[in-house]
Amino acid sequence: MILPIYLYGQPVLRKVAEPITKDYPGLKTLLENMFETMYKSDGIGLAAPQIGLAIRVVVIDASPMAEEEPSLANSKITLINPQITSFEGDNVTMEEGCLSLPGIHEAVTRKNTIHITYMDENFVEHKEVISGYLARVIQHEYDHLEGHVFTDRISPIRRQLISGKLQNIIKGKVSCNYKTK
Ligand code: ZN
Repeated sequence: MILPIYLYGQPVLRKVAEPITKDYPGLKTLLENMFETMYKSDGIGLAAPQIGLAIRVVVIDASPMAEEEPSLANSKITLINPQITSFEGDNVTMEEGCLSLPGIHEAVTRKNTIHITYMDENFVEHKEVISGYLARVIQHEYDHLEGHVFTDRISPIRRQLISGKLQNIIKGKVSCNYKTK
């Protein structure tokens, strides 16, 4: 089932999301719906707050970008209760967008490498070190679980320059080809 994407301005995007337990009701269906919603909207990552649930669940599949970034070929991943335990490596600046902020693309600086602990869809624990573009996608989605969006990380001047666009999203003056709320 395709779910509506909550847009910038919705309070749920500003909440710190709660961890879930293995017996979270309807988890399997929720994950299926999140992947379907992400694919339908041409996203490469989706965090539960973006579908209105303040829980620590993220789905990612950046394989459509594998032509440019071969390392992304097998990047389909479910992160439950993720914890980024440390960051390392260089700062890398790249343009990002977000399904909750349609029409906005801004350069964001992030660390190249993360150490992360998470549960997969079967609640099996993983500890991994991830670098490059996938580390960026995970940091972007992780921000959603902390109540942040990527425009929080741009310079105050850039944020001022796009404030009109942000206000338009809050007012619902946006057009996108997926269901929104
Ligand atoms: Zn996002």
